[in-house]
Amino acid sequence: MSRVAVVTGAGSGMGLAISQHLAARGDRVALLDLNGAAVEEAAQRLRDGGAEAIACQVDVSDRSAVLAAIETARRELGPIEIMVTSAGIEAFVDFLDISPEDWDKMMAVNLTGTFHCLQAVVPDMLAGGWGRIVTISSSSAQSGTKRMASYVASKGGVIALTKALAIEYAAHGITVNTIPPGFIETPMMHRPIDSGELPPMKDLLTRAPMGRSGTSEDIAAACTFLCSEEAGYITGQQINVNGGWYL
Ligand code: NAP
Repeated sequence: MSRVAVVTGAGSGMGLAISQHLAARGDRVALLDLNGAAVEEAAQRLRDGGAEAIACQVDVSDRSAVLAAIETARRELGPIEIMVTSAGIEAFVDFLDISPEDWDKMMAVNLTGTFHCLQAVVPDMLAGGWGRIVTISSSSAQSGTKRMASYVASKGGVIALTKALAIEYAAHGITVNTIPPGFIETPMMHRPIDSGELPPMKDLLTRAPMGRSGTSEDIAAACTFLCSEEAGYITGQQINVNGGWYL
């Protein structure tokens, strides 16, 4: 059955792979991202492959922009049935050096951005009596990670928000789960390695039980299952996709 899905952060990394997987199984997909050119190109590639896909340039921390993008998706594709929130930012800073402005920005994008997106789509899911929500959080919020306090706190909030909504909407046919990824090779992972914030890849991998990092495909496979009919009895869960490895 073809569903209408919205994926944020769809211009890169996991969000891009998730939109590709959902389109490949026949869903109509709206790709949202701050990077308008990336998401336009990604949607065009999906359309070239025969899928129904649209792109919306949006900053998820901007509530009115989120509401406008969801309205566009609803008008062009239909009521929203699946929402995946992958848009996010990270920062490596000693706790004492986090400015209030940087703290607010992290919360605005990672946590409040998730709130805006979910509030925009839940009414469609309630009206349809069916919904699948997957938030992308982080294993760092499960283990704690030094020099990432604002990021870890924002992702801890995403996990808590996921659990709260799972209970609130459990009786309405809407499942709400989170994937806390471990160490996944995407541009977000390569940036701190390239800048020296994280050790070189070969050193990081000595701590990986499987001897490899994860891929966006690993995340997309799990996410697509959580967005399926068959996953209807899974809600409020943290589905760890981390190769057995907590940072
Ligand atoms: P990525 O390749 O950097 O993709 C993230 C996408 O989100 C980018 O296209 C980015 O656009 C977009 N974005 C950033 N701020 C936005 C905003 N305000 N509004 C809309 N879009 C915005 O990173 P990724 O690794 O796929 O990360 C996906 C999610 O997984 C993130 O939430 C991240 O925190 C989480 N995560 C990643 C890892 C990992 O190992 N990679 C581990 C744990 C959790 P720009 O490029 O223009 O900024």
